[in-house]
Amino acid sequence: MSERIAIFGSTGSIGVQALNVVRRFSQDYCVVGLSAGENTDLLQKQIAEFRPEFVASVRSFSSEGVRAFCGADAALRMAEECDADITVMAMSGIAALSPLSAILKKGRRIALANKEAIVCAGDLVTKTAKRYGTDIIPVDSEHSAVFQCLRVGERKDVKKIVLTASGGPFYACHSADFRSVTPEQAVHHPTWKMGKKISVDSATMVNKGLEIIEAARLFGVDEIDYVIHPESIVHSLVEYADGSTVALMSYPNMELAIQYALTYPRHKQNGGVRPFDYRKSLTFLPPDEARFPAPAIAKECLKKGGLAPAAFCIADEVAVELFLHRRIGFADIVPAVRDVLGLPFASGECSLEGIAELRQNICAHLQAKFPG
Ligand code: MG
Repeated sequence: MSERIAIFGSTGSIGVQALNVVRRFSQDYCVVGLSAGENTDLLQKQIAEFRPEFVASVRSFSSEGVRAFCGADAALRMAEECDADITVMAMSGIAALSPLSAILKKGRRIALANKEAIVCAGDLVTKTAKRYGTDIIPVDSEHSAVFQCLRVGERKDVKKIVLTASGGPFYACHSADFRSVTPEQAVHHPTWKMGKKISVDSATMVNKGLEIIEAARLFGVDEIDYVIHPESIVHSLVEYADGSTVALMSYPNMELAIQYALTYPRHKQNGGVRPFDYRKSLTFLPPDEARFPAPAIAKECLKKGGLAPAAFCIADEVAVELFLHRRIGFADIVPAVRDVLGLPFASGECSLEGIAELRQNICAHLQAKFPG
């Protein structure tokens, strides 16, 4: 019997790669649901190939033979109705939070690629997962690695988690050069091929900040460190109390992390991934927090708790959008985030309503500060 898979964000980078994995294991999996944003052409091709039962899209599409959901809340409605064994949550941004909340209540497996929902509402997400017996298998390469390294020992013996960071495309640049960085340069990552938002986040290293919060939330470990590792071979490390450190290595390949989230706890042969050549040497460098302060800012937000991690995440989401529309410069992104964190509405108790209100406040603040 094949397992039923639903993919949210099917036309994005992770969604497309998840479908590659499904194609490779077509005996084991069948696609029952596809949810997409704007890319109707690709969605239409995916419908023709995978013949899902449920399809959701922000835009209208030709929906013959499927249960169709259309419009702004399409993903949420599909999340409520579609009954899948494994859901790949690969929508980007905070918009994933409401469909994710619905899927968490099904008590099945979620392959979680979205980090914003867990950063903004981490406790709510992990508590709901626990209550309904839902397994969350992270797809983010670092968190997939940590998840696997944690299987070696016991949680009480974990001393710290160390995330690796490639440093992004501008790690070797002088910060004065940041002023001239264009959206086209920022979306080009040296080791990973990814969507626009996450590529910009990698370049500012806000991504590592989000991942620090994500790791603390997902694994319930407070001590999270990070190290620069330009080759992206070691995907993360877990240090245990006895002084041993466990690492997970492979050439950078997102399909590996996606596949593991589907085949967990197995590491099935996939034919597509070449094993790491361990005769090569690897580089690890200390982070440069003066030029890239975002991870340190994220750690402060984590310590502060409440709405602070959500404010970090949402302020970045809005600032990156402004940058991609050329309304602010690359060098303005992190200062804009820091500025938001100091505002009165950026603290307080964390709730779903609080996050929605926070989002409105941040949008209004940054739109007024940087008028188009
Ligand atoms: Mg990552």
